[in-house]
Parts: sequence; structure tokens; C-alpha cells
Amino acid sequence: GKGIAVLTSGGDSQGMNAATRAVVRVGIYLGCKVYFIKEGYQGLVDGGDNIVEASWSSVSGIIHKGGTVIGSARCKDFTTRPGRISGAQNLVDRGITNLVVIGGDGSLTGANIFRQEWPGILDELLAQKKITEEQRGKYGHLNICGMVGSIDNDFCGTDMTIGTDSALHRIIDCVDAIVSTAYSHQRTFILEVMGRHCGYLAIVGGLTTEADFVFIPENPPLPDWPQRLYLALVGALASEADYVFIPEWPPEIGWPTKLCSKLTQEREAGQRLNIIIVAEGAIDRNGDPISAEKIKQVVVDNLHQDTRITVLGHVQRGGSPSAFDRVLGCRMGAEAVMALMEATVESPAYVVSLDGNQAIRLPLMACVEKTKAVAKAMEEKQWDLAVQLRGRS
Ligand code: ATP
Repeated sequence: GKGIAVLTSGGDSQGMNAATRAVVRVGIYLGCKVYFIKEGYQGLVDGGDNIVEASWSSVSGIIHKGGTVIGSARCKDFTTRPGRISGAQNLVDRGITNLVVIGGDGSLTGANIFRQEWPGILDELLAQKKITEEQRGKYGHLNICGMVGSIDNDFCGTDMTIGTDSALHRIIDCVDAIVSTAYSHQRTFILEVMGRHCGYLAIVGGLTTEADFVFIPENPPLPDWPQRLYLALVGALASEADYVFIPEWPPEIGWPTKLCSKLTQEREAGQRLNIIIVAEGAIDRNGDPISAEKIKQVVVDNLHQDTRITVLGHVQRGGSPSAFDRVLGCRMGAEAVMALMEATVESPAYVVSLDGNQAIRLPLMACVEKTKAVAKAMEEKQWDLAVQLRGRS
């Protein structure tokens, strides 16, 4: 059978275990030898006990766990050619020519570089007599398939990344808990959620909890709003949210005035509390960060409200995965194995994604490049372009 290896890399997210489990079981079902690579690319470079054959039962009892049971890491060695040569040797030694990488855009970029370099690396290993002529011939091509595990939903090409839905559940639980205490004391709470370049968690979290104000890195105009933010729109309609600010479309410089008048209006209408949600990457039109502290200062100075900050942090990434993320992980994992089994020398490196509730395969690098272009557009303050690029694919 074919050799397949699976690794998780970069930040962990809920649902990665479901994806790993699906890769192992579908692989075994199709007659492959499946291997875990522990601790991300570090385990690939180091080899040894980090690369172990998986069995059907070795992935029992992991679907409900958060994080990734095979471990994840950031790995400097893999960003160097000697590190990747060592990784290739470890794969060839075990007859592995199919690699599934579950991670963010950095991890997927690394996977693609590895694949491109593979034939040259094998020639080098052959010249150094570290592999045989037979191995060079048999394992001459590396197939790659990526899956995006990230709670931020910040990848172009998929409607939802693995882990986003669970993170939203966690955020909603936290906001609901805070609302009850804020009500008692007529307080204003500022909640910081994750999202360095993407306001998805903040906006959907805000809309589904009736937050009064949301700061995010983007704020796309409604008619062009991409399908992947469909939930946000439905949430807005369902919850009658009043105002939204996100990281890719920063608020006008006059945001403090707008914020204060909005909060005042809500209090005058009888509301006993205010909830403001700020994405960790929120910025203003000058590119300056809008931190929870800065917002608190504005509220306290102008409205003299009893104002508190809660940073949700890693709580969002912890805990058990939602039903959606478990199913998403299963579907993506199964599709990744199918993509590898059907790959030919001409096939590109794939990333599997969700498009209108269909599991599909897309060329990995085109998606990574688009994702990087969004970040660049935002850095250059081209918010319209960022929104346009972010679209569905
Ligand atoms: P997250 O979104 O959670 O940060 P990520 O996959 O983008 O996930 P990175 O830290 O960018 O996280 O990358 C994870 C690992 O992937 C790195 O530590 C490195 O080993 C590898 N990697 C990233 N970029 C490259 C690259 N250009 N070449 C080779 N390897 C890379």
C-alpha cells in the first residue's frame, strides 16, 4: 500500500483531531500505510520515534478532544534546506510519498516548498549514497494535500476553517456569562477576541450576542459581502445588532464620537449594560491599533461608565470541538486522502476546502498567495482591495 503521513503544524485548533482521525481511517480503509508525524515539522526533521505507524484503534477516543493529540510546533529547522533534506530522508526511509499537512498558511507554504524541492533533494541524497537508485526511482514524487486548521477563518478558498465554529461557541458562552454580571452592575464590558487579520470571530461573535459595538480589521460594504460572511449577515438580521467595526475595514477617525453616541443611545433606550467586542487586530484608518485599553479610556473619559475589560485569549482555542468542526474535520480528512490517492505527477499540491457545503480540492499555492495578498492589501491600507480579494476563493 501507499505510504501516507499526517502532521499538524502552527497554532492548534479544535477539529484537528477529527481530521487526523479521518486521514488515518480512510487511509487504512484504502489499503495505505498511514503514519503520524508528531510535533509538526520538527518531528519530520528529527524522525525517529516522532514518525510512527498509525492503526485503526490509535485514533479511537480523540474526536471529542480539543487541540491536536499528535502535537504541533513551530519549527525553524524546516525553514532551512538541510532541515527539509533530513525530513525527506525520514520519509523515503519509510516509503512515504504522500503528506497531509493540517495548519495555517505558513505551514502550507512550507509543504509546497518541500514538494517543489523533493526531486532535487532526492538527487542529493542519492549522490551522498543516503538512498538507493531504487528508492530514487520509486519515491521520486511527493504528493501534498493541505487542510486549514485555524480558529480565525482567515484563509482564502474555504468557507470555514477547522476550529472557527468551536471558537465562536466559546466566545458566545463567555459573552453570555459576562452579560449577566454586567446587567447587575450596569457595567460596560470590552471583550477582546482573537483575529489578527480577520474580524470574523469578532463580527459573528458580536452579532450573535447582541454586542453594541464591534471593532475588527475589516468592514466590507454590504452588497459585496462575501458568502463566507453569510453567517454575519444572518446574525445581524436576527439579533438587530446596531453597529459593526472589523480589522480589514477600520473605522473612520471619528470612531470615539460614534461609539459614545451609540452607547448613550442604548442606555437611554433602557439598556442596563453595553458589550463592545474588539478583535485583537483591530486598527483605525491611520493603521494605529484600537486596543481594549484605548476603547476603555474613551468610554470612561466621555461617559464615566463603570467599564471592564476581559481578554478571552486561549479559552477560544481550548475545549471540545463543536459538532460542525468534528464533521468538517472528518470531511476534509477523507477528501485529503482521496485527493492524494488520485494525484498524478501533473497534479498541483492541493488544499481541501469547504465551498457552499461541498468538500472540494483547490491548488494550494493559489489560495496561499491570495491569503497573503489580503494581508498585504490591509498593510497598505487598501481596505476595498482586501475585501474584494477575501471573497469566497
Ligand atoms: P498559524 O496561522 O496558526 O500561525 P501557520 O501554519 O501559518 O499557522 P507558521 O508559524 O507561519 O504558522 O508556520 C508553521 C511552521 O511552518 C513554521 O514553524 C515552519 O516550520 C513552517 N513554515 C512556515 N513558512 C515556511 C516557509 N516559507 N518555508 C518552510 N517552512 C515554513
